[in-house]
Amino acid sequence: PKRASPGRLEFGLRFSHLFRTWLSLKRKRRRCLGSKIAHAKGNAVSKKVLIVEDNELNLKLFTDLLRAHQFEVEGLRDGREAFARMRGFAPDLVIMDIQMPHVSGLDLIEAMQSEADLKPIPVLAVTAYAGKGDEERILGAGARAYLSKPVGMVQFLGAVKAITG
Ligand code: MN
Repeated sequence: PKRASPGRLEFGLRFSHLFRTWLSLKRKRRRCLGSKIAHAKGNAVSKKVLIVEDNELNLKLFTDLLRAHQFEVEGLRDGREAFARMRGFAPDLVIMDIQMPHVSGLDLIEAMQSEADLKPIPVLAVTAYAGKGDEERILGAGARAYLSKPVGMVQFLGAVKAITG
């Protein structure tokens, strides 16, 4: 049987110290990974926003801005498909342009109010014309909030966060 020489014993002690250090680092890393995964999962429940906007440039601007802020975004240029898309996508917020061909945003907001499943979805209306009485009419139709174009990015993001937060 081998006897542990002092050198061997010292090596063994050093090795076990190294092993314990390695093990504790490994545990720390696992805890750290665990919290990272939990964090990523937290971020994964991002809010869904449906943008109904016939102007391609505006649609792209709104979409890019919201995606850059971790929103899940779908865009729609034809208001006639709005109800089907709301039912398919189940957004937490609808951003509704008012001036659109075929069907106006105002009519869509109004019609949403008589659909039991769509009525609870908040609408942020955006309009190019801020005429006298526009705000009252849009809010009266059932929109949660109203912004007039050109919409500033900070103002826009603030309104979206205020409604979805
Ligand atoms: Mn438009």
